[in-house]
Amino acid sequence: MDREIRCDVIVVGAGMIGATLGIALASAGVRVAIIDRLAVDTMTAGPYDGRTTAIASAAQRALEALGVWPMLAPDAAAIDDIRISDGRLEPGATEARTSLLHLHFDHRELAEACAPAQPMGHIVENRFIRRALFTRLAAMPTATFLAPAETARITRDNAAATVVLADGRVLRAPLLVSAEGKFGALREQAGIGALQWRYEQTAIVCVAEHEQPHRGVAHEKFLPGGPFAILPMTDDPRTGAHRSSIVWSERADLVPALLKLDDAAFAREFAQRFGSHLGAVRPVGPRYHYPLSLMHAERYIAQRLALVGDAAHAIHPIAGQGWNLGLRDVVALAEVVVDARRLGLDIGGTATLEAYERWRRVDNLALVAATDALNRLFSNDLPPVRLARDLGLAAANRVAPLRRFFMRHAMGAVGDQPRLTRGLPL
Ligand SMILES: Cc1cc2nc3c(=O)[nH]c(=O)nc-3n(C[C@H](O)[C@H](O)[C@H](O)COP(=O)(O)OP(=O)(O)OC[C@H]3O[C@@H](n4cnc5c(N)ncnc54)[C@H](O)[C@@H]3O)c2cc1C
Repeated sequence: MDREIRCDVIVVGAGMIGATLGIALASAGVRVAIIDRLAVDTMTAGPYDGRTTAIASAAQRALEALGVWPMLAPDAAAIDDIRISDGRLEPGATEARTSLLHLHFDHRELAEACAPAQPMGHIVENRFIRRALFTRLAAMPTATFLAPAETARITRDNAAATVVLADGRVLRAPLLVSAEGKFGALREQAGIGALQWRYEQTAIVCVAEHEQPHRGVAHEKFLPGGPFAILPMTDDPRTGAHRSSIVWSERADLVPALLKLDDAAFAREFAQRFGSHLGAVRPVGPRYHYPLSLMHAERYIAQRLALVGDAAHAIHPIAGQGWNLGLRDVVALAEVVVDARRLGLDIGGTATLEAYERWRRVDNLALVAATDALNRLFSNDLPPVRLARDLGLAAANRVAPLRRFFMRHAMGAVGDQPRLTRGLPL
């Protein structure tokens, strides 16, 4: 076992963002070490993460360019349409009442711009994304994947970043990246503050089986406790059952009791929110829960350090954009690092890191603010607010350019696109 590993970049955290960054850098021959404290088997096991991710079409192009998408395609369900509606729960009713005013995004509306019509994105189970990323990483000659590995000491100075692992191995590189998720220690150690608050909402995540096929339509119902998202999945490969993935954001104080309900009572609460548009429905498998909070780091960089993904910004899942935003950090950071290296510049130097931060700040800030505002606007039952937002939905639904604007944003097809999200190699 090498006691000292010299590389170009050290990435701490091999979640879906850190692992993708490792692949992106290694695809251009950058020597990268990726460290996670958890074992690969733990991170890919079913119970570790019950979520799915809506992969927007720009992120899909990047995964294609990185050789990851072919491994995901068989397990990916296309999102062709998105239907957004406002709903109310009335005591005793078997189903939430949804407002007649709604917003409908149909992917065929973008057919002119990118003929033929492409899906707006795909839903893939997180465990499949992790499995594909780790398989790809293992095949990359300039990537060293260390998991499980505990970091004992991390220092940074003018010349390099040094990571000492608990087993005594020492890694040294001109650039250190924190992809540690929203509770990342490196951000705090670097003295970078953050804007953060809890939402007093918890997302219950599970799978629903329903009688009718979803036909590629995702639903977002705004209920008083929070948004209830129904996301199309592939049919169960064993039973052929039609399935959707559910992200049910609910008042945090109600969630413990909901999670403890027996199957029949939980199914009733669930069906009330899901509705009957796909025939008979039932929740299946484990119920996962994720407390929701917002975090936005004041800086994304410090001496020889860059933050990416949830380590830099964690947002409400209301728009299914957290990983997509992190992916945009990844492709931007990989591009500035690779370009600096080709020019013989310092890849962990201030100029390189500032270029990364400039590129990402506005896009991230915009989505942090937009998701927060949307959640505040929709997660309440005040009659005047409900009326205003229903009229807003209906008005947006009538304006085709506005619909196309939202769709392009949801697909990640806006702004200054790095090479990878244009489908080009680094
Ligand atoms: C309910 C829910 C639904 C969501 N749905 C979507 C969606 O549809 N689309 C979308 O784009 N986003 C979605 N998101 C957001 C998305 O899941 C996150 O943005 C994304 O998973 C963040 O990935 P990450 O790799 O940055 O962080 P994490 O997934 O938190 O990974 C961090 C990794 O770092 C490791 N680590 C941390 N500290 C250390 C250390 N010191 N040493 C070694 N290892 C360390 C951890 O073990 C972990 O593996 C959703 C979020 C929630 C809560």
